Order: sequence, then C-alpha cells, then structure tokens
Amino acid sequence: MKHLCIVLILFSMHFVVFGQTRYVMVIHGGAGTILKKNMSPEQEKAFHETLTQALQAGYAQLQAGKSSVDAVEAAILIMEDSPLFNAGKGAVFTHEGKNELDASIMSGANCMAGAVAGVTTIRNPIRAARAVMEQSEHVMLTGKGAETFAESKGLDMVTPEYFWTEGRWKALQRVLKQDSINMQLDHDGNQQSNKTPLDKDYKYGTVGAVALDKAGNLAAGTSTGGMTNKRYGRVGDAPIIGAGTFANDRVGISCTGWGEFFIRGIAAYDVAAQMEYAQTPLAESAANVIEKIGKTGGDGGMIALDRDGNIAMPFNTAGMYRGAITESGEVEIGIYQ
Ligand code: ASP
Repeated sequence: MKHLCIVLILFSMHFVVFGQTRYVMVIHGGAGTILKKNMSPEQEKAFHETLTQALQAGYAQLQAGKSSVDAVEAAILIMEDSPLFNAGKGAVFTHEGKNELDASIMSGANCMAGAVAGVTTIRNPIRAARAVMEQSEHVMLTGKGAETFAESKGLDMVTPEYFWTEGRWKALQRVLKQDSINMQLDHDGNQQSNKTPLDKDYKYGTVGAVALDKAGNLAAGTSTGGMTNKRYGRVGDAPIIGAGTFANDRVGISCTGWGEFFIRGIAAYDVAAQMEYAQTPLAESAANVIEKIGKTGGDGGMIALDRDGNIAMPFNTAGMYRGAITESGEVEIGIYQ
C-alpha cells in the first residue's frame, strides 16, 4: 500500500512537471500605464472580447492546417480593425496630426521577413508587410513607395481620414498642451524642462502576435501607429526586424514599448540569441531583455513563444494587454500586472 502511494505521488508529480500546457498562439495589444482604476468595466470587457476574437481568428487558421504566418496575420487584422489598439484604425497621431503606421512580419520556417514604415493609406499594414515578405525581394518599404507597392498587390487602400479617432486626437491635444507648458517653463528658465517629443503617459497599444503551426513552424508580427506626437518621420521598433519582431525555428517574439530603447537593445533578437548561443530558457531570456531595457531607462514588454509551446510575456509597465491560446483552444487573457 505504502509503495502504491509513493508510485501514485511520483506519477502525479511527473504529470505536473511534464504535462505542461502547450500554447500555439500568444498576442499583445500594447503595454503602458494601464491601471485598473482608470478602466471602466465596459472598456475592460471590450478589450477582453477583442483579444479573444483575435486569438480565435488565429487559432482557426492553425486548426485548419494553415501556416503560422496566416495565423499571425489573422489575429493582427482583428486588432488593426479595432479602434481600441494603437494599430490600423486606432493608430495614434503624429505631431502634425497625421497617422503614420508601421508593421512587420517574420516567418521562422525560412527566416524571411517583410516590413512597412510610415504608411498613411494602407488599411492593414500587416498585410502590406506580408506582401513585402512574399511578393518582393526586399525586407522594408517606406512611405509613398510602400503604398504604391501595396496598391499594386491589390491591398485595401483608404484615405488618411479613415484612421481618425476622437480618443487619439484628444490624446495628441493633451500632449501638445503639455509640450507648450514645458517650453514656456524652459523659456522662463524657471524649471528644467523635461519636455519630450513623445507621449510618456502612454498606453502604447501596439499589437503583436506569435504563432506555432501544426508543422512546427513559428511566425511573429507587430503593427503600430508608433508614439503620439512623433515627428520628423520617426520610426519605432515595430517594423524593425530584430528589434520589434523576430522569428526563427526556435522562437518567435513581438515587442511593445518605447521603441527607441527596443531598437538600441535589439530586443527581439536578443531573446533568440540567448536561447541559441547560451541555451537560456525562454522565460529567462525574455525577462533578461526587459530587465536590460528597464536599466537603460526604457519600458514596455514583449510576448514570446517557442517551438515547444512555451510562452513568456514579461513587461515592466503597469499593464500589458495580452492573451494566449492553448493547443486545445483554451483562451487566457491578462491586462494588469
Ligand atoms: N513600440 C512602438 C513604437 O515605439 C510603440 C508601442 O509599442 O505602442 O513605435
């Protein structure tokens, strides 16, 4: 009897250790100053619903035997078409009151990648990024050229007004006002200015997805409007392969946060490099990168999924909209710390 008990205990321990949940997709809807006290139950519900819808759209592709690239695109499309996130329809405004969108995608199966930056008339920048990857010999196209290319590939084009939303417009006005107060203080020499061209009371809101398909291939994608009040054609990390997005045969990563820090930190690739060269486990590799970003004064988060179905979603902000779906279709959503 005693022996039987020991065998049963060992067996159940084995199950806990080895019967780990296998995830097939992970998404984010941006990191930032996301506090429960500032969120109404209705808003929270809307985020839950859209994140769930995005996960299910990606999952449906995977279940149908489609590629991880298809799944990433399907999930990001849902978030780009929602005004809730800073990507596609909900993109933030530049200093001049425009919307300039960036996106990228990478396929781990063949390490091909595509990206667009500073586009203003492509309804779904993630589709354009994919077209660059699959239908051009380039990796990144910008501005007008990217738009001409997208149109020639038959993608949905819109007028720039399509991206206007009241919430984002008000956010720009707030930042512009703060900017002019800072400038005034600066001018009077009363106080050292901490003025910045970018919005720091951000809810970054960029979107991203990483998927693992039935063939065992990974893909990652990221799409954003950038940061409120950006100017001079500023481009963040989201469309930069290795910074905001990366995928190989081992891991896929998508980042969100203060892009300048993620570019300098080559954040997404750093996760893959630690795993490849130092055999550091996924969770530790991802946590190391966010810690490093924090030490240099940056903030944000990332999602990562490896070929064994493990996920990591570290962030050093108050919250990060995030979600994951298991092989059997169970959805998990998180917003706050
Ligand atoms: N990383 C994006 C950028 O810097 C912003 C975000 O994550 O929302 O453009």
